[in-house]
Amino acid sequence: GNSLNGKVAFVQGGSRGIGAAIVRRLAAEGAAVAFTYVSSPEKAQQLASDIEVSGGRALGIQADSADPVAVRAAINRAAEKFGRIDVLVNNAGVLAIAPLDEFKLEDFDRTLAVNVRSVFVATQEAAKHMQDGGRVINIGSTNADRMPFAGGGVYAMSKSAIVGLTKGLARDLGPRGITVNNVQPGPVDTDMNPDAGDFAATIKGFMALPRYGKTEEIASFVAYLAGPEAGYITGASLTVDGGFGA
Ligand code: NDP
Repeated sequence: GNSLNGKVAFVQGGSRGIGAAIVRRLAAEGAAVAFTYVSSPEKAQQLASDIEVSGGRALGIQADSADPVAVRAAINRAAEKFGRIDVLVNNAGVLAIAPLDEFKLEDFDRTLAVNVRSVFVATQEAAKHMQDGGRVINIGSTNADRMPFAGGGVYAMSKSAIVGLTKGLARDLGPRGITVNNVQPGPVDTDMNPDAGDFAATIKGFMALPRYGKTEEIASFVAYLAGPEAGYITGASLTVDGGFGA
């Protein structure tokens, strides 16, 4: 496709999993794509060079989403290199699951810092570079609406927070013609949630379509929201979950 020709995208957390599929898809649609990573420099480098080899433009930047100074610097570096930012995708996320009496407060705080605060920080900074037609796309989770197992309350809370933050940011940026939406994936086969073992079998038992999603099945919807046909969707939480929440 070419729906993003001439556009610049910035993806928080793009080296692996859903984020890497989003980086690839936005680049395939013609966008120049900057993306962050924290612990996978080789994967980030490989992804950027794959895109460049196929004629696209990409830039991997190491920046921990828990660190607001690093996130702001990464956005400004991307804007400097590519001249502007049209699409911000907030995908970086962590999943901490533990029995209630063992759940560490450090994990509570890191979950909020990465899954929630970074969305606010990045939107605040990227909006400075955006024009009419800009897009902010958050990656929440179907677990905002349904958390059918123990130990995941803090993760579910972080994704529920994104529902409200998305609504409020849509109000902040709507007058400038910028949309803000929240994509809520269901189980997708990644390092975070591998389609293997007893846990995956249990998860499939909760679903209308009893299978894990592919990262590309999330990226395609993100590409639609980023594109010119989605200009009337904002403040919405949109679920792509194989009927996990049905
Ligand atoms: P993975 O753990 O497979 O990949 C996470 C990606 O985010 C990696 O590129 C990682 O970078 C990056 N990342 C993680 N923490 C940080 C950080 N502190 N700063 C910068 N980058 C970071 O996760 P998924 O692809 O499965 O998940 C992506 C998003 O989708 C998350 O927000 C998750 O909550 C959400 N989601 C996932 C579902 C699933 O079933 N997989 C279901 C619903 C929602 P690095 O490689 O450098 O560590």
